[in-house]
Amino acid sequence: MSTGPRVGGVHQPGQPTAPIGPRSPARAWHDAPVTGTLITVAPTGAESDKSDVPALPVTVQELVETAQDCEAAGAAMIHIHVRDGGARPTLDLGYVREALSSVREATDLVIQVSTGGAVTDGAEARVAVLDADPDSASLTCGTVNFGDDVFLNPWDLIERLYLAMRERAVVPEFEIFDLGQLTTLSRLLDKHGAPYGGHVHCDLVMGVPGGMPATAQALVACVAALPEGATWSATGVGRGTLPVMLAALSCGGHLRVGMEDTLTFAPGQPVQSNGQLVRRAAALATTALRPPLTPGEARAMLGIKDRRSADTRG
Ligand SMILES: [Zn+2]
Repeated sequence: MSTGPRVGGVHQPGQPTAPIGPRSPARAWHDAPVTGTLITVAPTGAESDKSDVPALPVTVQELVETAQDCEAAGAAMIHIHVRDGGARPTLDLGYVREALSSVREATDLVIQVSTGGAVTDGAEARVAVLDADPDSASLTCGTVNFGDDVFLNPWDLIERLYLAMRERAVVPEFEIFDLGQLTTLSRLLDKHGAPYGGHVHCDLVMGVPGGMPATAQALVACVAALPEGATWSATGVGRGTLPVMLAALSCGGHLRVGMEDTLTFAPGQPVQSNGQLVRRAAALATTALRPPLTPGEARAMLGIKDRRSADTRG
């Protein structure tokens, strides 16, 4: 295990299990030290078509250019869904490896792969994507309706992904679409111990039609139920982007922005680029006196294993 920061109450494998519950009042979130802001960009997703959204990065070259622009604008981590030669979502390992290695060569960003894929992807492919050697991977903590679709995340798949990540020294980011999924996260940590890196980081995904609403009230309820010592970011989908961003900044959280979640910058103004969304997030974080973390600071906070080659490591 790494020597990264430890999560209070999370046991190591082989040690007696300690119960994990909500934070004690004495360690409430508003007492936590104020830090800079981790900005994650989710540039593509699996839901939008290139034909409808011409600015969406779908080729490796477009992904690399977006990644470089977003890094310059203040992003420290990138959450990647890969597209195939026809711009369709794919978990094919060849495409995923090429995308991840290209972004790693061109930037210093922490590289997170989605294990959610598209709502139609099966369990085998969602686990296999971890073989592409990401720094981090998303791990959704429960099933959620997604408009007319169902994003299936049964308990046995959650366990399987969690253990596969730890075997490969990949740091999970726990995706939380609803309050009850934090109960599942506590059950997971209680049964299996801490993730690789020893630190728990969550992303609250808010405003999906079928998940929790993109409101400050829902955000505060989730933050109160996080495992003690966890860090978290929040993502407001669509018109929830700004309310969630402002609430997260005021509650000590981090930010995820990008065209996976937001395609309209303001009423009547389509998003022009992922960099545009990262620049707005970085400006608001700086206004909040919590300026963007560098990729190096993000690695230290999350307990990321350094996979960069010696000549690109900075
Ligand atoms: Zn995603």
